[in-house]
Amino acid sequence: MHIFYYPEHTRHDPALLHRPDMPQRNAYYAEVAERGELIHTAVVEAGLGSVSLPGDFGLEPIADVHRHEMLTLLQRAYDGFLLEAGTEPAIPNTFSVRNPLHRRSQTILGLLGQYCFDTSSPIFKDTWDVAYWSAQTALSAAALVTAVGEQISYALCRPPGHHAAADLFGGFCYLNNAAIAANWMVQQGQRVAVLDIDYHHGNGTQAIFYGRSEVLFCSIHADPFKEYPYYWGFADEYGRGAGKGYNFNFPLPLDTEEPAYLIALDKALTRIRAFVPDALVLSLGVDTAVGDPVGGCRLERESYGRIGAQIGRLHLPTVVIQEGGYLLPTLGYNVVTFLKGLTQATE
Ligand SMILES: [Zn+2]
Repeated sequence: MHIFYYPEHTRHDPALLHRPDMPQRNAYYAEVAERGELIHTAVVEAGLGSVSLPGDFGLEPIADVHRHEMLTLLQRAYDGFLLEAGTEPAIPNTFSVRNPLHRRSQTILGLLGQYCFDTSSPIFKDTWDVAYWSAQTALSAAALVTAVGEQISYALCRPPGHHAAADLFGGFCYLNNAAIAANWMVQQGQRVAVLDIDYHHGNGTQAIFYGRSEVLFCSIHADPFKEYPYYWGFADEYGRGAGKGYNFNFPLPLDTEEPAYLIALDKALTRIRAFVPDALVLSLGVDTAVGDPVGGCRLERESYGRIGAQIGRLHLPTVVIQEGGYLLPTLGYNVVTFLKGLTQATE
């Protein structure tokens, strides 16, 4: 297995917003730079494979997935907001909840409310640059599997991406790394299944592929009636138009433990097998771990090995994209255990 990692991701760090007096200070801005460093240390110490810097595939594969106006906003929001509001980072506080996008705001704050759906994705000075390299990390892993023929590659992406849609970001995410990788693989002639096992529904990935039949999207996540992102991820969301029948959600009750989780996973894998894909893009979130400050499942450390093995038995070329996981003491171990289970099952 080969690993891609961009060490300068630490230039984007919402931990800067933690204040001792903030309630749930570890939960709301839980997507901290330390996460990437902990996972990196753990995969290196476990000897899972060699680690490379990502290559630069340019803006085109990102622009093939995301709307131009949102990319421009992500690039200029920090400077514009600083000028406009005299403070940083850029965070929206007013949202274009039910209005269409045809009237374009002339302010950064107004634009943020049009292209962002919550307040958990602050834009710092280097956020655009780090998000760009997170997407390049995913593309590098995709290229290794698609063009070079590696069986498994791991993109240690930070920030994560699965909540970001074509023209809407939020949920600690800016660019949808998994969708950018999957879309690029489709352009190379691959039939791609995306499996999202983050604790939260991958609403951005679902939205990007909702009308398309050449990418299957399956997501196992907490019941959106009870959990973020609240408005997407229900079991009856099957796709639209040509994409109808290519989207499957498997919402789980809060406090789900391993046996019920593995049954849902088996159902998702059955859908994936029936699709007969050339390759799998896996959105790996380990915020399903018991005690995760943002999660509410009850998976133990050893569960991740069995989940990895069950996915590995698909015997598909697999691009693993890091999404969530916020319980710092066990984060690295859970990712390593998953990747070991995945690789051992494919050998
Ligand atoms: Zn998550």
